Amino acid sequence: MEETKINAQPIDSKIPEGPIAEKWTNYKAHQKLVNPANKRRLDIIVVGTGLAGASAAATLGEMGFNVLNFCIQDSPRRAHSIAAQGGINAAKNYQNDGDSVYRLFYDTVKGGDYRAREANVYRLAEVSNNIIDQCVVSPGRGVEQYH
Ligand SMILES: Cc1cc2nc3c(=O)[nH]c(=O)nc-3n(C[C@H](O)[C@H](O)[C@H](O)COP(=O)(O)OP(=O)(O)OC[C@H]3O[C@@H](n4cnc5c(N)ncnc54)[C@H](O)[C@@H]3O)c2cc1C
Repeated sequence: MEETKINAQPIDSKIPEGPIAEKWTNYKAHQKLVNPANKRRLDIIVVGTGLAGASAAATLGEMGFNVLNFCIQDSPRRAHSIAAQGGINAAKNYQNDGDSVYRLFYDTVKGGDYRAREANVYRLAEVSNNIIDQCVVSPGRGVEQYH
């Protein structure tokens, strides 16, 4: 019988080193700063105009970078994100609900059938309150969108 050869290249998702609760915080803390005068000279390509891409593009545009935002639909507003019903989880920790970053992390990994990248889910839980603020930034501000 002929053997099937699988080209098993490991996927490097470039998740930073260190304990899970510190990976992204440490990574961010050690990034080089960009001189504000140089921001306009840097072109940043953001692929996707859903909640992830549009909020990244709007934030980077607001910071002064020259952002090019691409999508494949006939309109940038046609991203999958438009179908979202509007609910969003955050570790708000209202009185007596026993919520925490770790609990949101745990529930999200479990809810994702253990297929999500744990370090990234932890970061999501960690910045969940801030994400809500990001979502109200309107797509397109300071950003050119191409489709
Ligand atoms: C019916 C429904 C209800 C939902 N309700 C909720 C909810 O209540 N709460 C919640 O938190 N989540 C909800 N979700 C999930 C949530 O909507 C998604 O997880 C989220 O919107 C994904 O955002 P995204 O920016 O990562 O991707 P998307 O919104 O899918 O955006 C992907 C972008 O990438 C672009 N793209 C893809 N491939 C290419 C390419 N090759 N070149 C250029 N551009 C490309 C697309 O054009 C698009 O702009 C719901 C999802 C659905 C379908």
